[in-house]
Amino acid sequence: MYSLEGKAIKYSARTPVITRRTLIGATTFSALVILGIVSYLLVREYRNTEADARRSALNIVQLINRDIRNTFSIYDSALINLIDLLHTQALATLPAQTRQSLLFDRTNEAPSSFGFFVLDAQGKLIARSKPVVSVPPNATQQPWFSVQQNSTRDELFISHPYLASSDSPEWIIYLSRRLVAEDGTFAGVAVGKLKISYFQNLFRGLDIGPSGNISLLDTDGTLMLQYPPTSKISIGQDLSQAPNFRRFLNERFGSFIAMSGIYHHERLYTFAQVHDLPIIVVVAIAASSIFSNWQHTALVIGSVTLLLCLGLLWLTWLLIRELNLRLHAERDLAALASTDPLTGLANRRTLDRALDLEWRRAQRTGCPLSLVMIDIDHFKAFNDLYGHQAGDEAIRQVAAVIKTHVRRPSDLAARYGGEEFAVVLTETEAANTRLLCEKIRLAVEQMPPVLPEHKKLTISLGSCTRYAKPGETQDALLSAADKALYQAKKAGRNRVVNINETGLNAVKPPLV
Ligand code: GH3
Ligand code: MG
Ligand code: MG
Repeated sequence: MYSLEGKAIKYSARTPVITRRTLIGATTFSALVILGIVSYLLVREYRNTEADARRSALNIVQLINRDIRNTFSIYDSALINLIDLLHTQALATLPAQTRQSLLFDRTNEAPSSFGFFVLDAQGKLIARSKPVVSVPPNATQQPWFSVQQNSTRDELFISHPYLASSDSPEWIIYLSRRLVAEDGTFAGVAVGKLKISYFQNLFRGLDIGPSGNISLLDTDGTLMLQYPPTSKISIGQDLSQAPNFRRFLNERFGSFIAMSGIYHHERLYTFAQVHDLPIIVVVAIAASSIFSNWQHTALVIGSVTLLLCLGLLWLTWLLIRELNLRLHAERDLAALASTDPLTGLANRRTLDRALDLEWRRAQRTGCPLSLVMIDIDHFKAFNDLYGHQAGDEAIRQVAAVIKTHVRRPSDLAARYGGEEFAVVLTETEAANTRLLCEKIRLAVEQMPPVLPEHKKLTISLGSCTRYAKPGETQDALLSAADKALYQAKKAGRNRVVNINETGLNAVKPPLV
């Protein structure tokens, strides 16, 4: 419901073009759009960074893969050549020196070799590339011997890594092929020893980041090599139960980011099994080193964006505060300009505007419009008797009574001037207008005196109810209401006179 002041402002204040809700909505939307765009770009950058890391790790894996295949292929060719020559009858006729250099001629091509040797079916040394090449004790118990002994297939066997000797720090791998007798039975093994340090030297030039590493794993889970070496894991360690190893084995080729069970941080694992060999190459790069640049960029851009959004919200808040202050100032000014300071009712200016508006509205809608003019009876005498201040207080009290009776939001009570008031009643028939006028008159009559020694006050009311006709102005309504008031005065005061379209219709004077 409108207050009387609110009604007065209704006819004078301007509605703000930009509302607080619009501003908050627009700012929030802008901030969300900015955050959305920045998040999208950061996520895209993150994905690109990850894709680049995967690509370069895959290149490294493929490079290593090719090198391992080449190396093992050279060793295998040397072993095959050695076995073929052993089966050549003519070789037995050659001098020992020539025979030795012919037998092991191709083994010189094998890189980082720790020597080649040949054992018969009982594990007895038949030949070796150099006199210093040692044969491990219990050779027949070693997998590189027993696997070939028990195998029916003629293929290369790659052993787990072993220390070259108990007093050597050198790790080696045994590569063996079986010798077959003419009747097809097992006749011994030809063996080449490959230094693992060969691969370490090969990996030295590759860029795998500060905490990355390259591993060679046997398909049974045995670690054959880790570069760079670390104290957390040692050559020969069984990793077959590690969840990441299960993925290497099952997927054979690919890359994924997972937590390392050994290093306890996230790593990008890129891996591939070396063609038909039982070896898996794994390049592991710490996720933190992959994304460190991205993290830095994300932190800077994220902070700047957040500050920008906060700044935007802060500016909006300032703007809303300024708008509110201006709105309140405008409302206060509008209230001051539209209300009467003594009574708090609408002033004459507001009354004129309201009457104009409501008259035109009544013309459009065809609804009746009523105007009531009220004047305090014998007020000059009251003023002269009790003084101007008491007169003011009396005007205030009469205004308060009128105010309590004009409650509909569309109606308006105003101080017309001096001790005169006016009430605009929209969409109100003559009968209801008369009824309200009588209620106001009675209420003023029953009002206690301003001070106990003061005289009681009465008012006269003149009202007019009209159906606004096109082309007619509100002056007709105003002069008719004025005329009705004059007639109420003339008829003896303390009464209501109504002039409607059919003519005079005075309310009878009160009995007492
Ligand atoms: P009537 O019954 O015919 O209306 O007699 P009246 O004495 O009320 O006559 P009139 O309406 O001409 O008197 C108006 C008086 O109201 C004149 C002035 O003394 C007093 N008056 C007008 N405005 C104010 C005001 O703001 N304060 C006070 N205290 N008195 C006012
Ligand atoms: Mg008067
Ligand atoms: Mg008067």
